[in-house]
Amino acid sequence: MVVSGESKIGSKTLRAPLMVSLVLIVFAAVVAGGTVLILTAMNNMAFHANSLDTQRAQQTASGALASFEQQIASATSDYSAWDDAAKAVYVDHDRDWMEKNYGVFTGAGTLFDTYFLVTPGGETAMAYKDGVALAMGFSDYFGKSFATLRAGLENDMARGIYQRTGFVETIDGPAVVGIAAVRSSQGSLTVAKDKATFVIFARHLSDAVIKQLAHNYIIDGLRLVPEVPANKPFAALRNSKGDILGALVWDLREPGTRSYRQVLPMVGCGIAVIGLVLLGLLAFGIIIVRRLMADERAARKLSKEDLLSGLINRAGLNDALVEIEARAALSGRDAVLIYLDLDRFKDVNDAYGHTVGDQLIRGVTAGLKHLLPKDAAFARIGGDEFAIALVCDDTEACCAAVEQAVIAFFKEPLIIAGRLASVGASMGIAVSSQGALGSAELLRRADMAMYRAKASRSGRAVFYHPSMDEDREARMTMANDLRQALDHEALTVVYQPVFDAHTRIICGVEALVRWNRNGHGFVAPDIFIPIAEDNGLIGRLGEFVMRQALMDAAKWPRISVAINISPLQLHDVSFVSSTAAIIEECRFPAERVILELTEGFFVRNPDLAKQSMSQLQRNGFRIALDDFGSGFSSVGYLREFGFDRLKIDRSLINALGKTPKAGDLLKATVALASSFDIPVTAEGIETQLQADYVSDCGCDELQGFFFSKPVRAQDISCMLEKTGWTTSAA
Ligand code: C2E
Ligand code: CA
Ligand code: CA
Repeated sequence: MVVSGESKIGSKTLRAPLMVSLVLIVFAAVVAGGTVLILTAMNNMAFHANSLDTQRAQQTASGALASFEQQIASATSDYSAWDDAAKAVYVDHDRDWMEKNYGVFTGAGTLFDTYFLVTPGGETAMAYKDGVALAMGFSDYFGKSFATLRAGLENDMARGIYQRTGFVETIDGPAVVGIAAVRSSQGSLTVAKDKATFVIFARHLSDAVIKQLAHNYIIDGLRLVPEVPANKPFAALRNSKGDILGALVWDLREPGTRSYRQVLPMVGCGIAVIGLVLLGLLAFGIIIVRRLMADERAARKLSKEDLLSGLINRAGLNDALVEIEARAALSGRDAVLIYLDLDRFKDVNDAYGHTVGDQLIRGVTAGLKHLLPKDAAFARIGGDEFAIALVCDDTEACCAAVEQAVIAFFKEPLIIAGRLASVGASMGIAVSSQGALGSAELLRRADMAMYRAKASRSGRAVFYHPSMDEDREARMTMANDLRQALDHEALTVVYQPVFDAHTRIICGVEALVRWNRNGHGFVAPDIFIPIAEDNGLIGRLGEFVMRQALMDAAKWPRISVAINISPLQLHDVSFVSSTAAIIEECRFPAERVILELTEGFFVRNPDLAKQSMSQLQRNGFRIALDDFGSGFSSVGYLREFGFDRLKIDRSLINALGKTPKAGDLLKATVALASSFDIPVTAEGIETQLQADYVSDCGCDELQGFFFSKPVRAQDISCMLEKTGWTTSAA
């Protein structure tokens, strides 16, 4: 029944956490991916930097070895291609010179540390190591590869090259060795090739030498190892046969790894910061989402709650009904819905104001809540409408119990803000047998039963009955027929004469509408007037009656014409102007027209009533308060509104002689009216006794079946003629 945007709101807010999570997940994935990328790139950079450095170190180490060999080659050349040496060796055989210039020189160790002099016959003629004479032949001192070196030199000599160098193992370790024929400074042999004497110079890769190399070439931790390492860069030392004598190795600097390690903490910090931010965002997101969800729950609750009473509202009741019917269906019991509409709440609201009205609602809510079964759903579904839904074991007893409790509750007048508020309740009950009816139909039925209860004014609960639907149908067809009757001006107006209490001569008429409904006969105005009101026809009906009445009354001299006005007609803002237009149209003096209004209108809309009334009176109409004594009958209204006449309700006259104090009440009422200078008409007089009594009480005009029933216009004309008044011709 009530369709709200809740489901939309719901799905929107449900999607929100999903969206936030999704965004955060994507963000986290991006950060994680970025981190991996950065670390991989850094790692690659480190690896490349490391291998570049390794390459460079390897080249440097190999270069160091090459230049080390180059040095011995230069030294060998300097000391063998030397005129002085050639003269000392070949001409002077000066051993002393040789010891001084070669042997002792090995002590310095800067160019070579070992020296051998080899005769043309291959004998060791002299040997020195570190400046000390060595008692050892060169073939014992050098390893096997030396032979290869020497053989190579012999080959070279055929091509005029007298010198050769290479790495050779010695008994003191690996060394670079130069072997050369002693010759002239120009490089040519001064003797025959087979007479040539050879010098051998060797320089060992001692710790000091390696340290010097490391220093010169800036290689950290350079050292000689006997074997080639398996998983480290190295520079190999190979003899002339190609055998490995050892290898130079060094400490890896790994600059890439070092910078990687240096940068890593910073990158780690960055990632940690981003991670923290992400965590913060996540926490923030969770808080927001939680708040959203809480807001949504609150909004949903609020949308189903009535703020004034704190009960569930119509939307909440819809949900509750679905649940209650399901519960009833499951247990094979009945779901019951009781509609409850406060009687006279509007009167309290209008009389005392909205604040008191609100307090009344709260008071009624608190009081009823206390009386209802705990598992009953209790809702406020409109201004003064409540609903109670429950599952009943014994439906009849259950409904009776609630009805009794509610009736008992409203029997006591409520004291709200120090004022006595007498309100009642009309109850309509609908039953969904085993919860099978459906909440919409259950609501409709309870509503219909409640309206019936309200109309009956019995003060008892009314159960829904299918005949109510028929009634509704009947009312609808009646409304249609009435509309057609109005279209075809098929309504008529009759007039009930009003008599002067003293002279008992006719002094006025009350126009009363009549409807001879096609195929149904006459329908009482008490029945079709409310239907006209409910179906927006009352304006047209009222205008028709007024126009007809004024047209008829135009023939009658002097007497007043009373016309009944429905409160709904007065709600139409154009009412004042349309009545003025009809007066104008019928050329009827407004002063002779009495508009009869019931007090409900003055109670409900005092401001509008005052405004309309003074406008109508300014236009010349007189205003009578009709049916006084039948309802609220507030003396305050008599004083506040300047009525031109008061009509005492039939029920008061009818009570005369039947109810004790009815006479006193009547007397007091008339006295009250005369204290405000308001003349009083007594209506519904059916007996002589009543006529005399009300005259004695001070009513100046009398109306009732005792004098005349409502009659046709021509009958009024006859009546007037009989009294001797001339009526003008139509
Ligand atoms: P009301 O304004 O109180 O009109 C007087 C009602 O009392 C009339 O009933 C009339 O026939 C009846 N009546 C008069 N004297 C006696 C009596 O001695 N004994 C009894 N038992 N009844 C008497 P009616 O014509 O059936 O009208 C009923 C109500 O319908 C009216 O009550 C009035 O409220 C409404 N009504 C009638 N005609 C119109 C109309 O043209 N416009 C409006 N808005 N309401 C109308
Ligand atoms: Ca009336
Ligand atoms: Ca009346």
